[in-house]
Amino acid sequence: MEMDDYDDWKIILWLILFLIFGIVIITCKPSPREYVMTVNGPESAGRMGITLEHEHILVDFIGADSTGYFRWNRDSVIEKMLPFVREAKENGVRTIVECTPEWLGRDPLLLKSLSRISGMNFITNTGYYGAVNNKFLPESFYRQSARELADKWINEAKNGIEDSGIRPGFIKIGVNPADTLSEDHRKIITAAGLAHLGTGLVIASHTGPDKPAFEQIGILRELGVDPSAFIWVHAQGGTVDGNIRAAREGAWISLDNIRKRSNLEPGAPNSPGWYADRILRLKEEGLLSRVLISHDSGWYDPAKPGGGTINGYNDIFESFIPVMKEKGFTEEEIDQILVKNPQGAFKVRIRKL
Ligand SMILES: [Zn+2]
Repeated sequence: MEMDDYDDWKIILWLILFLIFGIVIITCKPSPREYVMTVNGPESAGRMGITLEHEHILVDFIGADSTGYFRWNRDSVIEKMLPFVREAKENGVRTIVECTPEWLGRDPLLLKSLSRISGMNFITNTGYYGAVNNKFLPESFYRQSARELADKWINEAKNGIEDSGIRPGFIKIGVNPADTLSEDHRKIITAAGLAHLGTGLVIASHTGPDKPAFEQIGILRELGVDPSAFIWVHAQGGTVDGNIRAAREGAWISLDNIRKRSNLEPGAPNSPGWYADRILRLKEEGLLSRVLISHDSGWYDPAKPGGGTINGYNDIFESFIPVMKEKGFTEEEIDQILVKNPQGAFKVRIRKL
């Protein structure tokens, strides 16, 4: 009898320990945090800081049939670009989204080295750029279905680009600015939608005018992808009404060619004043939370001696923010555009309708 009682107590003790252990495990399980994928791996979205969402370190325009890493020397590119990256850092920039796609000079190892030396975060991409009449598409593109392309991009997102181990943080594509998308470009946006559903990476599409923007959003919807997975790149090439409509649907409005342009009259199209007025219209509609801004600046061009002339990443801080303040934008609103909105756009999350 005594032995049996002892055994019973032992079982109860074990059960209690088991329960406590279970509760500890459940409560300690980290909640899924919001993250972005940088060239150095996942980073908390809250740590992105001031982000330039569309810039370039290097672009090679020679075309898909002739480009390759042999076209530039990484050390020379770093030597040339480092002062500009450091200057951006002095202006408070913590993250640069590098928008150069594969076949146009994308070089994840270059970005990783530059990140290590400068302390700047870089985000690189997967995807294909169809704009400029398919000059930057490889031959293999024409043999692959949208599903096969998506699988290639999903593989890069999961296993890294080539054998670098570096994973892309968004899908960068490009389409022609025509009123109707070509079959090839419908295939690219379809592949991007499928790749989004497989990875949660946001799609940034070089687009321009309203019509191709809405056609792409429509194709994404057919795939069950929410418009908040879509960044309308070069939305300044669309109408203000188009920008407002797309933003209401949830798309990101990327006004991304903001430069000093001291040759333009204040308020002339593409001047800082003109960009500020467009953002003001979006603000009046309650859509400031969908706006992204950048310079679309840089870049080292391997076809030019010494990489050519570089446009730095400072005009937003030196020329544009003062104009925004004159037009009544508060520090908080500027922070929303340069810090909070990029977090929302680039955090890795599948966005289904
Ligand atoms: Zn660009």
